[in-house]
Amino acid sequence: MTGLLRIRDLRVTYSTDEGEVPAVRGVDLELARGEVLGIAGESGCGKSTLASTVLRLQPAGATVSGSVLVDGDDVLTMRWGDLRALRWAGASIVFQGALHSLNPVRRVGTQIAEPIKVHEPSVGADELKRRVGELLEQVGLPAARAAAYPHQLSGGQRQRVMIAMALACRPSLIIADEPTTALDVMVQAQVLDLLSGLVRDLEVGMVLISHDLSVLADVCDRIAVMYAGRVVELGPADAVFAASLHPYAGALSAAFPRIGDPASRFAPAGLPGDPPDPRDVTEGCSFAPRCPRADDRCTSQDPPLEEHRAGHLAAFLRIGEP
Ligand code: ADP
Ligand code: MG
Repeated sequence: MTGLLRIRDLRVTYSTDEGEVPAVRGVDLELARGEVLGIAGESGCGKSTLASTVLRLQPAGATVSGSVLVDGDDVLTMRWGDLRALRWAGASIVFQGALHSLNPVRRVGTQIAEPIKVHEPSVGADELKRRVGELLEQVGLPAARAAAYPHQLSGGQRQRVMIAMALACRPSLIIADEPTTALDVMVQAQVLDLLSGLVRDLEVGMVLISHDLSVLADVCDRIAVMYAGRVVELGPADAVFAASLHPYAGALSAAFPRIGDPASRFAPAGLPGDPPDPRDVTEGCSFAPRCPRADDRCTSQDPPLEEHRAGHLAAFLRIGEP
């Protein structure tokens, strides 16, 4: 079986005035149809860089290597025309902060119809209206809301509209980058249930990104935990959450709310400091400076991501040691 998405040795480096920023440093991931893969990690770990590179939406000036196969075709090298066809119709993204990316002066129905018009120009006006109504109902809104302007909708409803847009051209891959971070906890749960339900019903694949591992544990099949641009743990969602192998995943599972910081309203349990600035990443394990279990080896060896239980991988030298 060919995976829907296969990422191989992906590396993304930003060139800035302050030097090279290696934001993604050799990531391998796979996703099958009907599967939800979660990506967890604190702010700055490279999650959004990874997400945007999957559709080649990384900023100009970023250097990318490796491969990103969507249905067998490499997004990183495909021709511009093929890339345009792939976006929306083959794969779509719901961005972080999408709440603010709807056009305030256009009805939401018109905005949902936009990608369909571009990618399926033969669709007539009646059919278009029917599809938009259907999409709204799919995301739990009445079809009549097509006539609403964004300001007439709540935050949760606007996020549903963004999801309807992402589904509009029936893509086989959906990437959702912190789609619920700006929403309150109840609405967040509803939107995530909606997304995971759609994945199962529509047989698409979804990459769901969040800094909150507990949120991912509820809706994902598998979870990858990223730290400083690498995957440090990958496995079945319940195992990564409740029986983690890497101490970073353990700290994320036990994270607690950080009051008054809505963008990253949580702090990993028992970890001092923050993830490293990618420019400062040196030899050895990049987690070592914060790791409660680091020893001499950790400053010289960068642990490889290895399988320790069936389908459960971790990049940690001290597994099985007391
Ligand atoms: P996350 O989504 O996990 O918070 P990002 O992918 O946004 O992580 O960022 C990873 C690293 O890359 C961070 O150190 C961030 O400062 C840096 N970065 C992100 N975007 C850019 C950019 N356009 N130019 C330079 N550095 C960037
Ligand atoms: Mg991000």
